[in-house]
Amino acid sequence: MASEKMVDRVQKIIKDQKHIRNICTSAHIHHGKTAFTDNLLAASGQMNSKFAGDLDKGMETWQHADEQERLMTVDAANVSMVHEYRDNDYLINLIDTPGHVDFGGNVTRAMRAIDGTICLVCAVEGMMPQTETVVRQALRERVRPVLFINKVDRLIKEVKMTPEAMQARFLEIFKEFNELIEKTAEPDLAAKWKVDIMNGSVAFGSARDNWAMSVPFMKKKNVTFKDILGIYDMEEEARKEWCWKNAALFEVVLDMVIDHLPTPAQAQNYRIPKIWKGDLESDFGKELMTCDPKGRAAFCITRIVIDPRSGKEISAGRLFSGKLADGMEVYLNLAKKRQRIHQVLVYNGIKPEPMGEITAGNVLAITGVVGEAGETVTLEP
Ligand code: GDP
Repeated sequence: MASEKMVDRVQKIIKDQKHIRNICTSAHIHHGKTAFTDNLLAASGQMNSKFAGDLDKGMETWQHADEQERLMTVDAANVSMVHEYRDNDYLINLIDTPGHVDFGGNVTRAMRAIDGTICLVCAVEGMMPQTETVVRQALRERVRPVLFINKVDRLIKEVKMTPEAMQARFLEIFKEFNELIEKTAEPDLAAKWKVDIMNGSVAFGSARDNWAMSVPFMKKKNVTFKDILGIYDMEEEARKEWCWKNAALFEVVLDMVIDHLPTPAQAQNYRIPKIWKGDLESDFGKELMTCDPKGRAAFCITRIVIDPRSGKEISAGRLFSGKLADGMEVYLNLAKKRQRIHQVLVYNGIKPEPMGEITAGNVLAITGVVGEAGETVTLEP
C-alpha cells in the first residue's frame, strides 16, 4: 500500500466515505495550533511519500521538511493527509478555521464543512476564555470534539512538575473540558461526546518537540508515563529518535481522529437537521441526511483562495450529497446564476489534485465557479 503513489491512494479513499474524516483544530491563541498543524502535515506527508515504512528516513526528512512548504500551509484553504491505520488508508481533511474570535461568520462557515475538531489546550495555561468560545461554536454546530493537551514539555522542563502534579493538571483540564461539553452540548450529544482519558479521546504531548501520547497508545507501544518523563534526560538526538519511534505526534493524533471523530455519513445524520432548514422528509432531505453519493449535488463553499500555481480562484467546501465532476453545469443559489465547473480537486497535503469526479462526504475544491464563501452550489435551483 505504501509504495503506491499518494495521489492514487487519495483517489481510492475519496470514493469510500467510511475512510474520510473532515476536521479542524480549535484553540485559544498561542496554544500551538500553527505548530501542531505544521507538524502533522510535515510528518504525515514525509512518512507517506518518499520513505513510508522507513522510520529513520521519515524522521530525518521530517526534520528537514521544506520550510517553504510548511509556510504555505498558512495560505492553503485545506490540507489533507493520508494516514494508514489498522491496514486501511484514511483521508483526513483538515480545514483551517480563523483562530481569533470572528466577526464575519467565518468560524461558523468553516464549521459547516467539518464534523469533528481537535481542541488544543496549553498544559501550562489551561482552558482560556477563547477555548470556551471555540468549543461552544463547535458544539452549537454539532461538531464533535476531542482534546489535545499541548506544551507538556513546559510542565516537565520549566515548571518541573512531579509526575503526580502533572497527572493532576491533566485531570483538571480534562474535567473542565467535559464540564464545558456538559454545559453547552445538547443533552443527548453531551452524554455521548464527553471525552475519556482511558479510551484515547484525550491525548497530550508537545507540538514543538513532536511527541504525543494517549492511554491506548501507551498500551499499544508498551510505554509508561515514566518513559515519557525520561525523554528530557536524553541527548537531543536520542530523544528525537525515541519520540519518532514510540510517540510520533501525527500517529497518536490521527489514530485518535479516526477512532473518535465521525465519518461524514454518521455526522450528517445528526448535523443536517441543525444546519439545513429544508424539509427533512423530502427526497433531498433524505439524501442529505444519508450523505448519499447518488443523490442530488449539494456543495457548500466555505472558503475562496487564489491558487498560487495557476493564479486562479479555487472555491473550497464540503459536498453533502451527490457528486461533482469536471465540466458539470451547476447553479449558485446566492448569486442566482448558472456556471460551469472547470475542474474538481481534492487536497493531497497542501496541493490540490484534479480528480475528475468527486462524491458526497468529501471536502474538495472546484475551479471555474466564481461564488462567494457561504454559497450553496446545486444542480438545479
Ligand atoms: P497558535 O497561535 O495557536 O497558532 O500558536 P503557535 O503554533 O504559533 O504557537 C505559539 C507559540 O508557542 C510559538 O512560540 C510556538 O513555538 C510555541 N509552541 C507551540 N507548541 C508548543 C509546545 O508543544 N511546546 C512549547 N514549549 N512551545 C510550543
